[in-house]
Amino acid sequence: MNDENPFDAYRARVERPLHRLFREYGRPRLGYFAVGMGGNFVARVASLLPPLVLGAAVDGVFGPGSYNLPLIPASAIPADQLGQFWFSVWLIAGAFVVTAIFTYVYGVAANLFAHEVMHTVRVDSFEKMQRLDMAFFDDKQTGEVMSILNNDTQNLEMFLDNALMNSARLVVMVLGIAAVLFWLNWQLALVTLVAIPLMVLATLGFMRAAEPRYVRQRSAVGELNTRLENSLSGIELIKSSGSEGFEVSRVRKSSRRLFDDTMAVLRLNYLYRPGMEMLAGLSFAATFLVGGLWLVSGPPGPFTLGLTAGELITFLFMTQRFVTPLAEVSNIVDQYENAKASSERVFGLMDIPVRVQDAPDAVELDDVAGRVEYDGVDFAYDGELSLAPDDADVTAEDGAATAATDGSATATEEGMAIGASAGEEVLHDVTFDAAAGETVAVVGPTGAGKSTLLKLLLRLYEPTEGEIRLDGYALDEVTVQSLRRSVGYVSQDSFLFDGTIAENVEYGHFEANADEIRNAARAAEAHEFIRDLPEGYETRVGERGVKLSGGQRQRIAIARTVLQDPPVLVLDEATSAVDTETEALIQRSLDRLSEDRTTLVIAHRLSTVKNADQILVLDDGEVVERGTHEHLLAEDGLYATLWGVQAGERSPEAVVDRGDD
Ligand code: ADP
Repeated sequence: MNDENPFDAYRARVERPLHRLFREYGRPRLGYFAVGMGGNFVARVASLLPPLVLGAAVDGVFGPGSYNLPLIPASAIPADQLGQFWFSVWLIAGAFVVTAIFTYVYGVAANLFAHEVMHTVRVDSFEKMQRLDMAFFDDKQTGEVMSILNNDTQNLEMFLDNALMNSARLVVMVLGIAAVLFWLNWQLALVTLVAIPLMVLATLGFMRAAEPRYVRQRSAVGELNTRLENSLSGIELIKSSGSEGFEVSRVRKSSRRLFDDTMAVLRLNYLYRPGMEMLAGLSFAATFLVGGLWLVSGPPGPFTLGLTAGELITFLFMTQRFVTPLAEVSNIVDQYENAKASSERVFGLMDIPVRVQDAPDAVELDDVAGRVEYDGVDFAYDGELSLAPDDADVTAEDGAATAATDGSATATEEGMAIGASAGEEVLHDVTFDAAAGETVAVVGPTGAGKSTLLKLLLRLYEPTEGEIRLDGYALDEVTVQSLRRSVGYVSQDSFLFDGTIAENVEYGHFEANADEIRNAARAAEAHEFIRDLPEGYETRVGERGVKLSGGQRQRIAIARTVLQDPPVLVLDEATSAVDTETEALIQRSLDRLSEDRTTLVIAHRLSTVKNADQILVLDDGEVVERGTHEHLLAEDGLYATLWGVQAGERSPEAVVDRGDD
C-alpha cells in the first residue's frame, strides 16, 4: 500500500525538469533569452570600465605615468594630457550610458522571456487540468491545484528571470574583475581575491543554515493559506456555530507561526548581507594596506612587481563590485531549488494521461434516439489513475496515448505499487437497458452508488470493467463533446457561476438569444421568480449562486438543460427539503423535461418512481431488484422496505437491519 497519490508519482518520474522547461517552453522564445543574456553581458562589462579608466587617468593624466587600458591599442589613445583627459571623460560617461541602455534591453528581453514562459505554462496547465477526469479533482484540494497555476508558474518566472540573469552577472563580474586585476598586477590580485573564496564559503554556510528555516517558512505559508481558505469557504458553518473566535485564534496561531518562521529566515539574512559586505571591506582594507605599503616603500614581502597609484585605485574600486553579485548566490540557489520543484509539479501534471478523451476514430453522435445500455459495469473510484508503463517515454502526448489505447489501467510493478491503493468497488456488474424515451428510476440507500452510476453515463469517470452504450455505441467510441451534448445532467447540488441569471442559463449554449433563455426558464418554472428579482435576468447570483435558494438554483440548472435539449437526461433529484409548492414546480418542470427523452433519475419522490418504466434498486453497488413499482412492492424486498419507511409504515431500522448484512 502506498499513500502517495498518482499525481505525486508522476511528479517523481519527471526527469531533469528544468531542461524540459527549456526544451518545451524556452526554445520557442530563444531570441528573447539571447538578447537578454547579451544585454546583461554588455551592461556588466561596461560597468567595469569606469574604475579602469579612473586608474589609467590617475596615472597617465594626473600623474607622471603612462595611460594604459586593456584591449585598447596605444594608437587609439591620444598622446597629449588634455586629449587623454577628454578621452577618459567620454569613456566614463559612455560606459554609464551603455550600461543603462543595455540594462534596459536586458530587463525587457529577460522579462519578456520569463513572463511569456510563465503565461504559456499557466495556460497549458489549466488546459491540461480541464481535460483531466474527475478523479484528479476528487483527490485534490482547490488550494493545491491553484498553487500549481499561481505559485509554481511564478517560481519558474523568478528562476528564468532573476536566477539565470543573476548567475550570468555573477560569472561576468567575478571573471571580469579577476581578469582585470590579474592583468594589472597578479600579485596584488591574489591579496584582493582571497575574499572571494571566503565569500563563497560564507554563502555555503548561510545556505546550509537557511535551508531548514526556508522549509519551515514555506510550510507555514502553506498551512496559513489552507487555514484561510477553509475558513472562508466554511464561513456559514463558522457563523452558525458561533465559532468565529475559535477560527480567529486558529488563524492567529498560524499567522504567528509564519511570523516566527519568517523572522528566523530574516535574522539570518540580516547577518549574511552585512557579513558579505564586511568580507569585501576587509578585502578593501587588505588591498589598501598591501598596495599602500607597495607604493610607499616598494613591493612588500614576497612581491616583486611594480604598482602605480592609479592601479591601486582601480583595485580598490573593484573590490566593491563583487559584493552584490556574490550576495545573490543564496537567492540564485533558492530560486533554482524552487523552480526545480515547481517544474516537477508542472510536468507531473502534464504527464498525467488524459483518459477520457476522443479515440482517433471517435464517432460524432448525431440525431441520438436515446437507447442506453449498461453491460456488466464495475467501477472503483481510486486506483484507476495508475502509472503508464515505465518504459514509455512519458511526455504529455505519449502518456495520453498509452492510457487511451489501454484503458484498463495498465501498471508496471511500480505502477501497481501506486495504483494498488485500488479503491473498493462502488459498482459491481451493473446491467440494464433503457429503451429510447423510457424513464429508469434508480433507488437505494445512501452510498449505494446511485450518483456514481449516473456519472458514468456522462463519462465523468470510466468504468473499470464492462461497457456502457448509447444508441449501440460504446461511450469511448464517440466524441466526448457529442456525448455530453446528448446527455443533459441536472445534479442534486446545482452549481452556478458568479454572473447574471441569463449567463447561468445559457452556460454551455452561449449562442442562445434572450427569447430562448426566457422560454427555457418558463419551461423550468423559473421565469416567474426571475422576473420578480430586482434586475430580472440580469441579476447577479453571487459566488456559487449564494444569493438564490436551493430550489431556485435547481430550476436555473433545469432551464440550462432545457436549452441544451438533450435526447438523454440524467437527473439527481434533490433530497433537500424544499417547500411543497416549489417541489411541485420542480416536479412539473422535470416531468415536462423528461417527456420523450430517455431519463435516468435518482428518485426520491414517490411520483417519479411510480411513473417510471423501470426501477433499479441498488444496494452496495449491485442491482438487487428491478421492475415496476407494483411489481417491486409485490416482491416485498428492499424496495418495499424503503418505501415502507418513507410512507411511515416501517421504522428506519428496517433498512438498517436488513437480514442479509
Ligand atoms: P449514492 O448516490 O447512492 O448515495 P454515491 O454514488 O454517491 O452513492 O457513492 C457510492 C460510494 O462511492 C460511497 O461509498 C461513496 O463514499 C463513494 N464515493 C462517492 N464519490 C466518491 C469520490 N468522488 N471519490 C471516492 N469515493 C466516492
